[in-house]
Amino acid sequence: MNKDFVRACESVFDAAQLFIDAPLRFHTTFRIGGPADLLFYPKNTEEVQKIICMAKEYGEPITLLGNGSNILVRDGGIRGLVIRFGKKMADVTLDGADLIVGAGALLRDVAAFAQQNSLSGMEFACGIPGSIGGAIFMNAGAYDDEMKSVVASVRTVSRDGVERLYAATELDFGYRHSIFQSRDEVICETRLHLREADRDMILERMTDLNHRRESKQPLFYPSAGSTFKRPPGYFAGTLIEQTGLKGLTVGGAQVSQKHAGFIINIGNASASDVQRLIAAVQKRVYAKHAVELFPELRVIGEP
Ligand code: FAD
Repeated sequence: MNKDFVRACESVFDAAQLFIDAPLRFHTTFRIGGPADLLFYPKNTEEVQKIICMAKEYGEPITLLGNGSNILVRDGGIRGLVIRFGKKMADVTLDGADLIVGAGALLRDVAAFAQQNSLSGMEFACGIPGSIGGAIFMNAGAYDDEMKSVVASVRTVSRDGVERLYAATELDFGYRHSIFQSRDEVICETRLHLREADRDMILERMTDLNHRRESKQPLFYPSAGSTFKRPPGYFAGTLIEQTGLKGLTVGGAQVSQKHAGFIINIGNASASDVQRLIAAVQKRVYAKHAVELFPELRVIGEP
């Protein structure tokens, strides 16, 4: 990485926002991943604009990271700048039945804030360990609901540092898909449109969904959630289980015994262990069921 870029960043931003050679295993729920050359926590949209323009000037590539719960960072880590959306950019404010939310806010905190303010619509997301930015990017969903049903608009910054407001109708939401997967935009803030409801009933629903999650998912092991997208007409976990692959292990990566749709890190798994296990599962499921499995998690970084 260009040392002048690092020095320029250090002269503009607080030391507490910048981390050099930051091991990304501490920033992913899989607890896997090599180092980022430079990791930066922005506090607001203006800082996002500023660092994007600086990275462009110095020719440094940019990678975006939310809570790291849907990614596999490869063992060589990430060259250039990683912008990490976290607590520093996680304000949630109330505007009637709407919430204005910073990209780094965690879904569980947004769901809790909505519940405390008697607003319904975010219950489905209370157990998804992502940030708002990552959830919009992925159109995260669960229990027959998804981000699509609550997002009213999204404020972004382009890779040229230009701010833009997207209306919900422009977001091309589909199953684990949004327009941002084909556009280099940085999600900075969103407006969520919720509806008034009884606080206790909202809480009851959230508690019920969390219990369901705990009973079915291997939450005590690091993972990136469901490894594969749901193939049309099937469930990935069921196909994997029927192929007899529960417990299949490569290095420190294992097909969960509790839920075959999850690959878990049972101890010091490398990204390459996970990738080899994914390939083995895909091959064996295809051989038995003639169904192709495609990863839901996103693989980034150098091998
Ligand atoms: P990350 O993993 O950090 O990033 C995901 C993608 O979004 C990356 O390509 C990244 O570049 C991009 N991105 C992140 N932030 C921004 C931003 N501000 N601007 C532009 N792009 C950005 N998912 C579900 O849909 N439903 C579930 O029920 C579910 N259950 C899970 C359970 C467990 C135990 C785990 C570990 C994961 C689960 N997931 C689930 C997956 C994951 O939590 C979601 O996909 C989540 O929305 C990802 O958000 P994130 O902030 O962690 O994004």
